[in-house]
Amino acid sequence: MKKIVAALIALTLIFGLSACNGKQANNSEVKETSTSEEKIKVIVSFNPIKEFVLEIGGNKVDVETIIPEGSEPHDFEPKVRDIAALTEADIFIYNGLGMESWVDKVLNSIDKKTLTIVEASKGCEAIKISDPEEIKEHGEYDPHIWLSLKEAQKESKNIKDALIMVDFKNKDYYEKNYENFIKELNSLYDEYKKKFDTVSNRCFVTGHAAFGYLCRDFNLNQNSVEDVFAEGEPSGKKMKELVDFCKANNVKTVFLEEMASPKVSETLANEIGAKVEKIYTIASKEDNKNYIQSMRENLEKIYNSLK
Ligand SMILES: [Zn+2]
Repeated sequence: MKKIVAALIALTLIFGLSACNGKQANNSEVKETSTSEEKIKVIVSFNPIKEFVLEIGGNKVDVETIIPEGSEPHDFEPKVRDIAALTEADIFIYNGLGMESWVDKVLNSIDKKTLTIVEASKGCEAIKISDPEEIKEHGEYDPHIWLSLKEAQKESKNIKDALIMVDFKNKDYYEKNYENFIKELNSLYDEYKKKFDTVSNRCFVTGHAAFGYLCRDFNLNQNSVEDVFAEGEPSGKKMKELVDFCKANNVKTVFLEEMASPKVSETLANEIGAKVEKIYTIASKEDNKNYIQSMRENLEKIYNSLK
């Protein structure tokens, strides 16, 4: 990376000098090229936040996630090198609502003088958890707020505001990207709001209880193999409850998540003669789909299972 920067500086110098003899236009072109290389360094906790940052920050940002692709985010603990990367970043963005139980400890351990810290879910309307055992272990709220097309807009606004604060000269660029993304989120929401209003069945079953906010948006109900923090492979008793739930609610599809007991989802589907469909929590990037593509596929599959 350092080599590339050095090469660019050298190129800029050469072009800059030769431009002295040339036209004014050449000179400003060189300036444009050199400033566009100075990307804002953003570190995020995990994939959904990265998706939002890329939508808004576009080619003005470099984004890295602390939680690696394909690891279960609920029980993640960062390593020393993850923390070291933070000291070089301009912005650190995390979801909040107990999704990153490690965040306070990590932020207390580093020098934050030049780091802008953003809790993306700040100002969002969080769902309270009812199970006292879960509250004791993970906190009061359901963290999966990014899976709401409505709340994703608030997270995106917090991210947009931070990018503008750190990189004011590109304010218009961030505002425009943000407006476009909000339009996409709203139009996806409107499309499926209409579709879901036509179905009477409102229950679906998934790997872990990640879809509480999506359910709130569209007035649906989820049941799940694992709990909201992706813990607790079901006991025989829980399994029987799930089978009864599926039969009572005419569940024809059981959704499967790669990181939440996929085998149990398959067993359950076999037991009730349902089919299995993959669903995205977006906690990791899957099948190379972006946020809108993943959400669209989720909504379409859930809708089809309810028709
Ligand atoms: Zn989860």
